[in-house]
Amino acid sequence: MNPPRIVVLCREGATLDDVQAVAGKLWLNTPAAALEDVDGAVNKAIAAYWAALPGPDPYWDALAARMTCDACGESSKLENLSVCPNCFSAFCYRHGRNCPCGGETLG
Ligand SMILES: [Zn+2]
Ligand SMILES: [Zn+2]
Repeated sequence: MNPPRIVVLCREGATLDDVQAVAGKLWLNTPAAALEDVDGAVNKAIAAYWAALPGPDPYWDALAARMTCDACGESSKLENLSVCPNCFSAFCYRHGRNCPCGGETLG
């Protein structure tokens, strides 16, 4: 199985946005991360992303931002949505764990 796109972006040193970095932080808590992120590149890139932002807890601020479900358009805080670590779509609790892109959503 190919690693999700967040892994590729971190290894390439790509510039991330908040949603991608949230997906990366969630992905790092999955069993797959222990197998895929053997060199720690994802861990380092995600930690650096959040450390570079202002405020006492920018990760929490990002989770409090509102987004819409890609399936039904319902607006919700990011913390209440699942994010795909492959295509970075977000879904409400009604729209399942499996993203149309084949990625397994997190959060
Ligand atoms: Zn929905
Ligand atoms: Zn996806």
